[in-house]
Amino acid sequence: MKSIILLAPPAAGKGTQSDLLCKKYGFVHISTGDLLREAMQKDDEMGHMLQEQMQSGKLIDDGVVFQLLENKLKTIQDTSGYILDGFPRNVNQAEGYNQLLQSKNQELSAVIYLSVDYDLALKRIVGRISCPKCGHVYNDMIEENQPSVKGICNDCGIELTKRSDDNEETFKVRFETYIDQTEPLITYYKEKGLLYEVDSSVSTAEVFKQIESIVERL
Ligand SMILES: [Zn+2]
Repeated sequence: MKSIILLAPPAAGKGTQSDLLCKKYGFVHISTGDLLREAMQKDDEMGHMLQEQMQSGKLIDDGVVFQLLENKLKTIQDTSGYILDGFPRNVNQAEGYNQLLQSKNQELSAVIYLSVDYDLALKRIVGRISCPKCGHVYNDMIEENQPSVKGICNDCGIELTKRSDDNEETFKVRFETYIDQTEPLITYYKEKGLLYEVDSSVSTAEVFKQIESIVERL
């Protein structure tokens, strides 16, 4: 069973690549955010404990996340592998995760890092405009994704709108926070010889080709 961690800054296309991987190789996508949301909705001890922690504004402790991950791993033992998304976020969690895998006689296959240039990521997010009627997404900062008439949907002929949080300031903070938090993790996995860096500034198909060549060597 292949065990892959996918790391990516905002706008690197992580969701798309993860979908492509699951489709092609039959991997299971594991998002710790989804696991927590699911667990919280359950009417059991864990669910109640999580609801309480949320209401009191406390951070969910790592032990809970590890427990949920361990339970999830048990249910997917007969699959070809999984992609872990949104976890680990720091070296502490990475070490805990290694221990969890060791205790199950498993090991991490690879950590794939989708790197993206700041300026391109900025354009992908800040230039994003969409049609309020059909939902089609355009980008007024990336030439091949511009509508034929500036600011107007090609299909509906109505004005395109922008999300208010898609601005440069918000993006800069998100991106820099991600890079600061992730750098130690990148170094950690590099030293273990598990890190594979993929340049995600090219097209979706080209990014996936790079990822395929990594996965097929594992
Ligand atoms: Zn439209």
